[in-house]
This record gives sequence, structure tokens and C-alpha cells, in this order.
Amino acid sequence: MFGAIIGDIVGSRFEFHNHRDKEFELFAPACQPTDDSVMTLAVAAALMEAGWAADALGPCAVRWMQELGRRYPDCGYGGRFYHWVFSDAPRPYRSWGNGAAMRISPVGFRARSEAEVKALSRAVTAVSHDHPEGLKGAEAVAMAIFLARSGADMAAIRKRVERDYYHIDFTLDEIRSSYRFDESCQGSVPQALEAFFESVSFEDAIRNAISIGGDSDTLAAIAGGVAEAYYGVPEDIAGEAERYLDEVQRDILERWREKT
Ligand SMILES: [Mg+2]
Repeated sequence: MFGAIIGDIVGSRFEFHNHRDKEFELFAPACQPTDDSVMTLAVAAALMEAGWAADALGPCAVRWMQELGRRYPDCGYGGRFYHWVFSDAPRPYRSWGNGAAMRISPVGFRARSEAEVKALSRAVTAVSHDHPEGLKGAEAVAMAIFLARSGADMAAIRKRVERDYYHIDFTLDEIRSSYRFDESCQGSVPQALEAFFESVSFEDAIRNAISIGGDSDTLAAIAGGVAEAYYGVPEDIAGEAERYLDEVQRDILERWREKT
């Protein structure tokens, strides 16, 4: 799941200043972890606390997303999710936002079967993003990660995504000049997955995701999570990215690495 955090950190400076090109410095002083990283860590912490059990995961996810959400209140949440984070009685709000997909990578890295991918993904996602497109966006990303981890090749992962989740009828080159910010799962998860499908390395997947503009940190977080599962993360990139995390964030990451 650190791949998703790296994508978020790299993409953070491009969310509101799109850079429609693959050439750029991966890390810069303006980079920072945003909501994508914070919620990914919350899902990881919730999974550890729930002992990986789907029936215990929902309440743990609510608790951790609220706890970290409140600790980092200004890292880019959408309005309705912000309200959810601070609510005394948080309820799902039929969201199809790509927040469902940007935070789900720990599920893909942890699940032991496709059935578990689906159960864990639904348990995490339905606490807020219970619209069918929200549930689908999260599951598509978690499944792609699970398949990549399990040794499926790129063509097989694409085939599965196209069969069960999204028909991807474009290339990055075709959409690069026209793609616009889209916070929906259905308008950003296929694009992020295509950034992975056209990649030749972890770094290349992130560069692809940035290069089409739009919701850059989230596209790169989604592509980065899948790319981590497929290629692994080069040590130098991991080391650079880790410097952007604070102690609380690093602690969850450390615990996750020990447990997985
Ligand atoms: Mg963000």
C-alpha cells in the first residue's frame, strides 16, 4: 500500500496545477501526503485492528478514518467526506467518489482469495461510499492489486478489469489533452488503471497517471498501488517518499510492514 502513498505524494503538487507530460521531478519540496495517503493508512490500521476479518472491519474502518481524518483535517477531503469524518454518527451517503478507490489498496495486499477481496472491500467501502459505483471502484482496484500480487500478467489483469468492472476504450495518448478533473470512481478509476496498463515500471505507472492531468494525486495513488503489487517499489523511491511522512504515519506503515 506504500505505492499508493508514493503516488499521492508525487501527485500532490499537480492536483490543482496539472502537468500533462511524463517529464518532471518525482519529488519536490511542495510534495506532501494528502487525504489519499491518510485514508490508505487508516484502512491499513483498521485491517490490522480487525484481525483481517470482514465482519469486524466496518466499525474499525469508521473509527480509524475518523481518528486520522480528524488528526489531519486539512489534507484535501471532499465536503461530504469531511462532514462524515466529524460526524458523531457517521452514515454512508451513497457516494461514488474516488475516495473509495484511493484508500482501498491495503485490502488488495492483504486478502487471501478473490472472495476475501470482495468481502473486505465492501466492508471498508460501504461505511461511506455505498453507491454501486463507489463499491465497484474500490473492488476493481483491490482486485487488480490482488491479481498482480498473485502473479497474473498485465494482459490477464486488464482482461479481468474489462470483464467485471470497466470497459476501457481509450489510450492515455487519446485522452491526454481532453481529460478533465473528475472525482467520480467511474470517471477516474478506469483512467488510473490504464496508466498502470500502459506502464513498464513502478515509476512509469505514476508518471503515466500524472501525465493525463485531472485529479493527479488520486490517479497516481490508484495506479501506484497496483504498480507496487505488480513491480514492487524501488528502494530509492521508497526512501525519498518516506521522508514526507510524520511519526504517526510512519508508525502505521512500520506496523503494516511487520504484519504483512
Ligand atoms: Mg488528495
